[in-house]
Amino acid sequence: MILTPQFIFRNVEAITPAFLRSHGITALVLDVDNTLTGDGSQKLEPSVQSWLDAMRAAGISLTIVSNNTARRVAPFARRVGLAWVPLACKPLPIGLMVARARLRVPRRQMAMVGDQIFTDRMAAGLFGIPCLLVQPRGGDRSKGVRFKRRFEGRFINRYYHRGGTLYE
Ligand SMILES: [Mg+2]
Repeated sequence: MILTPQFIFRNVEAITPAFLRSHGITALVLDVDNTLTGDGSQKLEPSVQSWLDAMRAAGISLTIVSNNTARRVAPFARRVGLAWVPLACKPLPIGLMVARARLRVPRRQMAMVGDQIFTDRMAAGLFGIPCLLVQPRGGDRSKGVRFKRRFEGRFINRYYHRGGTLYE
């Protein structure tokens, strides 16, 4: 089922080079809102900056794919020095196609990192790559997202029920 998480991490900082290596992942497509920072926030936490540096040092290619507008995504992406795709229409895999062309890696080496089942997890599933689901960094500003959150629980429960663990 493309909605049940395959991996759940406490936050992006819990994703390690060792984990990626053991799964053959060399490129990450990163969501922004509630993944790299709070929803709608431009704040860059030092722990996230260190994590990005550690990923680069480990040779992991990174790019941003967000459903949000260029106005929201561009300043943050510039700050962390990453290329970005705005208005990605996740769960449609269009943004991931653009990201793959940009990253120039085989699909089997890519993973999506995001906080939402019905956008990030689903887009990754439709594109045929794993999703490293992270717990949201804070609350959701959009009513639409808050509405979707209500339906995430059953898929998250299924993950734990099947023996999935929280990576932290
Ligand atoms: Mg998000």
